[in-house]
Amino acid sequence: MADKQTPGIYHRRIGDILVTAISDGFIDAPYGVLQNIGEEEAEQILEASFQIVPPRISVNCYVVRSAGKIAIIDTGSGDTMGPTLGQMPSFLELINIKPKDIDSVLLTHMHPDHSNGLLDSKGNIFFENAEIIVSERDVAHWHNDSAMAKANDSQRERYFKEARRQIAPYMQRRKNALGEVVPGVHAVDLSGHTPGHTGYIIESGQHSLLVWGDICHVPDIQIRKPEVTMVFDTDPEAAILARRRTFDMVSNDRVLVAGMHLHFPGFCYVTRENSSYHILPESWNFEI
Ligand SMILES: [Zn+2]
Repeated sequence: MADKQTPGIYHRRIGDILVTAISDGFIDAPYGVLQNIGEEEAEQILEASFQIVPPRISVNCYVVRSAGKIAIIDTGSGDTMGPTLGQMPSFLELINIKPKDIDSVLLTHMHPDHSNGLLDSKGNIFFENAEIIVSERDVAHWHNDSAMAKANDSQRERYFKEARRQIAPYMQRRKNALGEVVPGVHAVDLSGHTPGHTGYIIESGQHSLLVWGDICHVPDIQIRKPEVTMVFDTDPEAAILARRRTFDMVSNDRVLVAGMHLHFPGFCYVTRENSSYHILPESWNFEI
């Protein structure tokens, strides 16, 4: 370990439930993925926040161990998005969990950086014993031939066709993301970014955590400017509403948050002063 970075693994206990953040890696995104903001302003905000420009976006997954069951929320990108991503399998191995030990795969939505880890590099099923929890609205959307026909070539290949390929071996063992999906884990509708975009609330005793999926992609920008959307939002207006509602809820109720694109290890709080929001990373816990 002397000259290598530590593994992208971080444990956080929520009551009796153990949540482990696993980094799938990161992606350096072009400014063009952002909408409702000019490149110059985006760069100013990132530089003022001491962030890498153009935006470097963490991609996180979360393993949830609850009542003897093992679940994983999102799967990372498999080997489909280049060498800075696709780390999930090696970190899963480091915490002594085999893919076949996973009982449930919970998806926040079907996009390459979240669901392309459903298959291994040879195209075989990765979580051979798992049921899959995913919103039926996302499954229907990505299987909608007329929506696919309207998409441009890259969207058709990267989103529609890839979503269909990734979920194919799990289709017979999928459950809609509604209500309690794993002991202590409830699905919540945060749609907008995709038609079935889903968050998961993890609760045990007095403790809780909201895994908010893609409520923001570039936190340093979107926490200041929730109206900034992404080119791949299927309904940008609904995405803005979901983001504002979620920021209001977690700041009012002082809810701990985890997110797929929060800077790793991706646990934070959100505060609100007048009409502006701030993001506060949670400090490192030495005990789990
Ligand atoms: Zn994403």
